[in-house]
Amino acid sequence: MAVADLAARVSRGERLSFADAHELYVSAPTALLGRLADDVRRRKHPGDVVTYIIDRNVNYTNVCVARCRFCAFYRPVGSDEGYTLGFDEIFRKIEETIRLGGVQLLLQGGHNPDVPLRWYEDLFREVKTRYPDFKLHALSPPEVLHISRLSQLPVPEVIGRLVGAGLDSIPGGGAEILVDRVRRILNCYNKATADEWLDVMRHAHLAGLRTTATMMYGTVETVEERLEHLFRLRGLQDETGGFTAFITWSFQPHHTELGGIEATGIEYLRTLAMARLVLDNFDNLQASWVTQGGKVGQLSLAYGANDMGSVMIEENVVRAAGAEYCMDEFEVVRNIENAGFTAKRRNMHYDILGDPIFREREVPRMLELAVARADGSTGEADDLRGYEARSAAARRARSSGAAD
Ligand code: SF4
Repeated sequence: MAVADLAARVSRGERLSFADAHELYVSAPTALLGRLADDVRRRKHPGDVVTYIIDRNVNYTNVCVARCRFCAFYRPVGSDEGYTLGFDEIFRKIEETIRLGGVQLLLQGGHNPDVPLRWYEDLFREVKTRYPDFKLHALSPPEVLHISRLSQLPVPEVIGRLVGAGLDSIPGGGAEILVDRVRRILNCYNKATADEWLDVMRHAHLAGLRTTATMMYGTVETVEERLEHLFRLRGLQDETGGFTAFITWSFQPHHTELGGIEATGIEYLRTLAMARLVLDNFDNLQASWVTQGGKVGQLSLAYGANDMGSVMIEENVVRAAGAEYCMDEFEVVRNIENAGFTAKRRNMHYDILGDPIFREREVPRMLELAVARADGSTGEADDLRGYEARSAAARRARSSGAAD
């Protein structure tokens, strides 16, 4: 079908087939894709509100057995540069987050064989005891799968135990491209196949959790595989309705085994717009300013995004691969308002919490994102000594008391 006919179909609110989406993605001018995506965004979000969340992106460990080829963050088991945070370090981060007006932790980490299910349960329970209103948006599907394999418990049981301990929602990380050909090349097939990723999300939705969905593009996938990813997400959303939002970003190549060059800003905007057109059953699309920078982040609001994502406060993964953008709440709000929108704070469920917090009370400026450990120290925290370790290195360290 001709691009003009497809554009007319989108304008009438008709659902795109795979072939329609493919034709638009490869043939439509960028400005047209943006206009169509913006129309859909306006239909779903009438008015001028653009939301954002104040939360903190905490990576509790960088030790990982998965070894994805696109990842510059992980360290292998036994590495001198490996770290695992202690409960007190995480509590301090939560307290700083609350002081900045934050409402949740986005807690994700490596697949560390020496952090068992009981550690997560103890941590989540303690967080909920100390900070009852604070939310835990934690553990992407591959991490849930890793914990399931480590504990030899089925995924629904792991999710049930984590929810019982205080898990509020699941972030959509680790999806990369939900096509197994791509996952094999990126060495992330073993951590989770496309079906396994979707299945964890299905179980989470059935358990009553809301989750997000993501796509990291720009590695080895084809245009068709990007679209297959989007259509698989759309299919699961038709089935469960459990996704609150979709976030896409480009592969950040620096310091990774895979290497290469980063996709351009135009490719990002085209991909974001296509996601808005294909994912007609997703309400919210976030701009990824942390990988694209504030200016493209701002442009995203004209290409289908209705949300500026997270103020973040801390970031370790994208920074390891060379992206070092930082925007505190003041900057996020400035970008939203300069684009002609009204900025509102939200929670994970997209409930509006209010106006920018810095207009309500004095909040310190945050001119760079924090890191996992401010002094850069490594090693696992003493807390871990009380938990079972799988690797010989951690068993030796814990029994000799060298864990610090
Ligand atoms: S992306 Fe995640 S699972 Fe893959 S190597 Fe990095 S930390 Fe491990």
